[in-house]
Amino acid sequence: MRQSKVFTKTTKEDPKGEEAKNARLLMRAGFIDKEMAGVYSFLPLGLKVIRKIEAVIRKEMNETLEASEIFMPALHPLESYEKTGRDDLDILFRTELATGRSLVLGQSHEEVVVPLAKNHIFSYRDLPVYLYQIQNKFRNELRAKSGILRGREFSMKDLYSFHVDEKDLNDYYEKSKVAYKNIFENVGIGEDTYMTFADGGTFSKYSHEFQTITEAGEDLIYLCEDCRVAVNEEIIDEQDSCPECGKKKSSLKKKKAIEVGNIFKLKTKFSDAFDLTYTDEDGEEKPVYMGCYGIGVGRLMGAVLEVTADEKGMIWPEEIAPFKFQLIAIGEKAEKEAEKLYEEYKEKIDILYDDREKPVGEKFADADLIGLPYRVVISEKTLDKNSVEIKKRGQAEEKLVKIDNLESYV
Ligand code: ATP
Ligand code: MG
Repeated sequence: MRQSKVFTKTTKEDPKGEEAKNARLLMRAGFIDKEMAGVYSFLPLGLKVIRKIEAVIRKEMNETLEASEIFMPALHPLESYEKTGRDDLDILFRTELATGRSLVLGQSHEEVVVPLAKNHIFSYRDLPVYLYQIQNKFRNELRAKSGILRGREFSMKDLYSFHVDEKDLNDYYEKSKVAYKNIFENVGIGEDTYMTFADGGTFSKYSHEFQTITEAGEDLIYLCEDCRVAVNEEIIDEQDSCPECGKKKSSLKKKKAIEVGNIFKLKTKFSDAFDLTYTDEDGEEKPVYMGCYGIGVGRLMGAVLEVTADEKGMIWPEEIAPFKFQLIAIGEKAEKEAEKLYEEYKEKIDILYDDREKPVGEKFADADLIGLPYRVVISEKTLDKNSVEIKKRGQAEEKLVKIDNLESYV
């Protein structure tokens, strides 16, 4: 894409009234726009990142977890929440129909997916079922100061699984851990993200969160670096050692972290509320067992930034970068060559070509701010050697690559 065609502008100054690093950088680079605290628009470059993260998530949902994608509504009747006892949640946004019927804006979708499943699950032959969606959630969060880490309207991937019994749920739950590990690795924060033992609610001993270590995080976790797992501060009194190797709390490392995903065995909590049952092989009626599995899509994007960004700007991992290459030309002769290269390569690879009429220094500063994985510079100097200069964002050294070898290089 030609940078002159990107409608957003970059700014040198931080936006006023925004404390979070992720949102400050994203707004300066024109990836997002703030409507009010906790409510953001995603602009072309930001939306490209979101779409790439979604692609990483969809791959694991479809392939590893064999789930089917659906799309559920955001308007929910309050009665469904009365059935599950969640009608008094403090984060609920409430509204109503013209008839006066009370509604809430979806904060999660158990109250929708269970009645829906009831229309399609009757016998053991209909199970298991795995349904997921990527959709906006609405939560009246008290504090929304963390940029896209904590929105009042935010995108979430939520998966719901339905099983004949607890054993089948447990097996799938283990598989979901693998899928989640793949996702966080593939978006570039595998090293910084720990599976964390957390409170399991009334029915299970634990649930599991996926926590990314960052100072911007709102949670405290205790890491076991040998086992690469952690325990959430909130349960550490009951679980005061590493659940895998038994190492004591005193030798675990206390860190701030942000929850980018979580998995939860709901068991029969929601199926009981809606009387979701099936008939087994002997004709006996039994409750359906359920699990739920969430990932905050926008939060994940923000968490990547909090982990990778440096003082100059953002640094995108290749898999989710809006473009792979940032092309910059210095001088008229180089511009002609850059035009040629851009036209030759634009269909094959993701290039952002800075064709704006701006001083080179500004282009370099913007390239650092936008943080694409590779910066490709063409100048008279490099052209003398029939080469371009390629630098990886975040690394100091650049290298010369012959224009004739570019094809094999990229
Ligand atoms: P938190 O503990 O951070 O408030 P939660 O436990 O309420 O989150 P869930 O309801 O389980 O979160 O939602 C699933 C996922 O959605 C979370 O793991 C997180 O990644 C994301 N998420 C939750 N709340 C928000 C929010 N306000 N803004 C952005 N993402 C969110
Ligand atoms: Mg939580």
